[in-house]
Amino acid sequence: MAETTEVAIIGGGAAGCAVAYYLAKSRVRSTIIEREGVGNQASGNAAGGLNPLTGIGIPGPLAAFGWECFQLHAELYQGLKDESGIDYQHRTVGKIDLALEESDIDGLKETALRMDAVEGFEAHWMEPDEVAKLEPRISTSILGGMYDHGNTAADSHKLTNAFATAAGTTIREGNVQGLEGNGGKIDRVILDDGEISCGQVVMAMGPWSRRAESWLDIYIPVDPLKGEILRLELEGDRIQYDISGGGASIYPKLDGLNWCGTTEDWNGFDRENSQEVAKQIRKRLARIFPALGDAKLAKHTTCLRPVTPDWLPVLGQAPGWENVYLATGAGKKGILLAPGIGKSVADLMTTGETTLSVQGYFPERFATNLA
Ligand SMILES: Cc1cc2nc3c(=O)[nH]c(=O)nc-3n(C[C@H](O)[C@H](O)[C@H](O)COP(=O)(O)OP(=O)(O)OC[C@H]3O[C@@H](n4cnc5c(N)ncnc54)[C@H](O)[C@@H]3O)c2cc1C
Repeated sequence: MAETTEVAIIGGGAAGCAVAYYLAKSRVRSTIIEREGVGNQASGNAAGGLNPLTGIGIPGPLAAFGWECFQLHAELYQGLKDESGIDYQHRTVGKIDLALEESDIDGLKETALRMDAVEGFEAHWMEPDEVAKLEPRISTSILGGMYDHGNTAADSHKLTNAFATAAGTTIREGNVQGLEGNGGKIDRVILDDGEISCGQVVMAMGPWSRRAESWLDIYIPVDPLKGEILRLELEGDRIQYDISGGGASIYPKLDGLNWCGTTEDWNGFDRENSQEVAKQIRKRLARIFPALGDAKLAKHTTCLRPVTPDWLPVLGQAPGWENVYLATGAGKKGILLAPGIGKSVADLMTTGETTLSVQGYFPERFATNLA
């Protein structure tokens, strides 16, 4: 029998699964088509930091949407955990950003003032002795650091699967090879092993989104930014804070492993773990937290972030297509942005409008038709 669905969502990462979740809230049934398992790419291996006050575009064009997404996460947690039966460990975290060079200090002090002014956040500069009091294993050669409290974090693999499970959506394992339709409407998704008839399509293919440029004859300028993380075991007490500085970051997880990285390399679709990069991560770690420099490796992961030329997501109706929507390009913030991506795209599909601040992210901002 021919397969059919109201909405075909191509890609089972955080973006696609969040769209499925919010569509389900509007009683729209969808099928997620995923070739490598739900949340098994960047969405399952991200550090899981939900940091709305810092990063590219903040302050700036990502600030309002980032803040809305941060609040959506907080509102969602209890309900989504109960609906899905998956506890994705949404929690508030404390963070220490270390200054290793004199030139780091002013920026950190300014960020502390800005964060401290936000309700629900607390941030201040610390001299080296205060840093040592919080975490004595931090290197004594640092010049101080910023402490902040108020950001949240979640297990991104569990969060992605919670969205999919609570949506009650069908998960179709398969590799999409193209789209068929005419008159500005897509009516079939073509897979390696069959096809699915659909009323609407959501392209949530993350770093592989450009593949759909030739299917839709539009630009979808999303490129892969490779990121590697070492999950390290540390003897002794658990680290209580996220820590970063000198190009290294440490995210202590509730299972006791410390996720350390994270690197950024433009290297096409290469998803191999690199031993050179592992050495680099350890070298940087040794500068800020010597005990982690040679800690035992539990797992090394590599995945690709979906990045656009302006580092902003691409959300909304595909130009020239009546029933195709894009939900991609979340770059380094796709776990933070997931609920806002899901809600805004589902709103646009079901009502034609959304109250979320996504007006700057519509696909039209890139040239529409391929030459
Ligand atoms: C090392 C690292 C650390 C990160 N840390 C954070 C963080 O702390 N906080 C944060 O907010 N973000 C973080 N991110 C970013 C975040 O992980 C991404 O922005 C987010 O996961 C992107 O989600 P996505 O659903 O768009 O893409 P993906 O997770 O890549 O999902 C896309 C899915 O589409 C599927 N797919 C693609 N093409 C096809 C096809 N033709 N047929 C079938 N299936 C297809 C893929 O298999 C994939 O599962 C991090 C990323 C990395 C790499």
